[in-house]
Amino acid sequence: MFEKVDLPTRGLESYRPLLGTQLWDQLLTLARDLQPFRFVHVNSTAVGGGVAEILRSLVPMMRGLGLKTEWLVFNPPAAFFGVTKKLHNLLQGQEGGLASEEMDLYLRCIQEASISLNGAGIGREVWFLHDPQVLPMAHHMNGGSPGYKAWVCHIDLSTPNAEILDSLLPFTMDYDALVFSMPSYVPYSLNGERVHVVPPAIDPLAEKNIALPLTDARAIVGRLGIDVERPLVSQVSRFDVWKDPWGVIDAYRLAKAAVPGLQLALLGVIQAKDDPEGVEVLESVVQYAEGDPDVHLYWDPDMLVDGIDRTVNAFQVGSQVVIQKSRREGFGLTVTEAMWKGSAVIGGNVGGIRQQIQDGVSGFLVEDATQCGERLLQLLHDPGLRAEMGRRAHESVRANYLLPRLLLDYLKVVQAHL
Ligand code: UDP
Repeated sequence: MFEKVDLPTRGLESYRPLLGTQLWDQLLTLARDLQPFRFVHVNSTAVGGGVAEILRSLVPMMRGLGLKTEWLVFNPPAAFFGVTKKLHNLLQGQEGGLASEEMDLYLRCIQEASISLNGAGIGREVWFLHDPQVLPMAHHMNGGSPGYKAWVCHIDLSTPNAEILDSLLPFTMDYDALVFSMPSYVPYSLNGERVHVVPPAIDPLAEKNIALPLTDARAIVGRLGIDVERPLVSQVSRFDVWKDPWGVIDAYRLAKAAVPGLQLALLGVIQAKDDPEGVEVLESVVQYAEGDPDVHLYWDPDMLVDGIDRTVNAFQVGSQVVIQKSRREGFGLTVTEAMWKGSAVIGGNVGGIRQQIQDGVSGFLVEDATQCGERLLQLLHDPGLRAEMGRRAHESVRANYLLPRLLLDYLKVVQAHL
């Protein structure tokens, strides 16, 4: 029922030049204090999406600090993910409900799987269970595994379906700590010492985020059919209703009326097994693009000859403007990734993006596709503004959203409850 993700250990020395002395010292001290514990992260996919992205770098980094750390991926039948995707959408505010059989399936799969987590408990484990897919696990683990448990909720819970939220909230009682990405995501009934707010972060040394020269970026996107002599706008995102790919196409069309050479790339590799809606959304977007030869859609990992991470990096570096026109976003890692590269970013004025982009300073926040198109045009016409916003964007990521800060915050959450 669980797969262990095979990952290396990674020393932290190479991050040091990017970090302040205080953060560095705190990290080493806390890691030393927590050395007797075994850390286990649990989520529901090893690839695709922000949580997998974070754990892929965080786990090796924790090991590099001398912390025994594992990552387990829950591997239930496919029908489970049909239900949890609905659950995810409802919790982010979509209309509708969950049939009682669906809720039963969700709870039964979790209960059966959680039993295998029991027994290992000697009271020295620290469990981080990520997202609603695995929320009820702690309830079933408590008998046999007395370790410390934190639930980390990465989604935007500011306008949830109240009925669904109410049916899930009792499961939070089984946790020592509850971690949310923004203060506004904390449900009203949950407050007090167990609640922590920890914004996510990116790994600046991952292949996706390391410095990539513009010439290399251009060569990579050029191999994928982009004409590097003409302007390019892109969105890197799973094909998902909340990421509003249709709105991105509307914004592109608006700008293209004034900049006829403009090209659009939508990069959303379909691979996350916990996201069964991707193909449906992609098909709708293909239709919406109406065969426009300047709209490029990438979803098949085999199309990306330079590898997914290097290709994501290349689009974020090689585009004049990067868009993340989400309608809900717990925290958009893609926004931070593009900002780290000094790109000019336009984000939907929602959720975590509001905190990530300071409107008019380190990027633009937009309400709808029309405003997005207007900002896009403004940025396309003003290279100086793009450069200045990109410079501020990079600095704001360096100060707030790099992975060692996230690790320190997670370790502080543990320390606060020991
Ligand atoms: N991503 C990727 N390939 C793609 C699309 C997205 O590797 O084709 C990555 C992206 O670079 C980011 C993560 O998936 O690291 C998405 O995280 P985010 O928080 O933006 O959104 P989520 O998918 O978790 O809703």
